[in-house]
Amino acid sequence: MKIDLHCHSRASDGSLTPTELVQRALLQQVRYLALTDHDTTAGLAEAHQAAQGTGLTIVDGVEISTNWRNWEIHIVGLGMEVADGAFQQLLTQQSQWRQQRAELIDQKLQKRGLHGLLDQASRYANGGNIGRSHFARALLAEGVVTTPQQAFDQYLGKGQCAYVRNQWCPLTEAVARINQAGGISVLAHPSKYQLSNKWLRMLTADFAEAGGQAMETIHCQMNRQLQQFLQQLAQEHQLLLSAGSDFHSPGRFIELGRGLHRPTQRGVWHHFNWLPEEP
Ligand code: AMP
Ligand code: MN
Ligand code: MN
Ligand code: MN
Repeated sequence: MKIDLHCHSRASDGSLTPTELVQRALLQQVRYLALTDHDTTAGLAEAHQAAQGTGLTIVDGVEISTNWRNWEIHIVGLGMEVADGAFQQLLTQQSQWRQQRAELIDQKLQKRGLHGLLDQASRYANGGNIGRSHFARALLAEGVVTTPQQAFDQYLGKGQCAYVRNQWCPLTEAVARINQAGGISVLAHPSKYQLSNKWLRMLTADFAEAGGQAMETIHCQMNRQLQQFLQQLAQEHQLLLSAGSDFHSPGRFIELGRGLHRPTQRGVWHHFNWLPEEP
């Protein structure tokens, strides 16, 4: 049985609709799938509808971009009451900042002689939450770069010419809103922030102190040593373990449910009583 607690649809920067994502998850024999779009829950209703009667359970999820000591840290929320007012208010505020930031990114690109990219990025976002990946696709389509990665490396990534300093909510606020809405907060992809071990320890401590409950420690692209290090770190702060592919679109390396082996204990899935606790 496979579990995948982190993925994206077209409601943010994924390339599949929620329905296509559900169909793909079924083909991959995923049993529990959390749809965790960036700062929006707009894809969840369609995902639930598509999963009805299929044996796949959709877990209500979100991935919130936050600010922690001037680092951009992503917090996944799982199992919240989606309609919770304060939670949705935070997502609205975040989505508004996404739109404002898109305009600022566009201004910076225009200064480089690159025009019309906001329109194109907005078309890719198609009413969903706009993100840098949409600009990366626009830059690719215009022939400015040859890969999305190059768009991040030369234009959109931190410190590059079209980078806009983040105004995301504080990490503590995202954790509080998720928890108050009855969900559990998960520190997403801790190894992706390029933090030294010392800073990663500080982040984990602050996250746990803020009420964070789990950490993603399982991913097909993390080697065993890294997974063990993260699991040890999680244990030191009594955090549960989570597993998610962060799937965005079909490709060679990342697949829904792939390589997400589950430790027998302290999994976030035990919190939800999906699986019997093993001795
Ligand atoms: P945003 O949330 O709009 O700031 O965009 C962040 C998203 O862009 C991430 O969730 C990834 O999907 C993608 N992303 C971030 N950094 C890179 C990178 N270096 N290369 C490719 N995609 C990236
Ligand atoms: Mn993304
Ligand atoms: Mn992320
Ligand atoms: Mn993600």
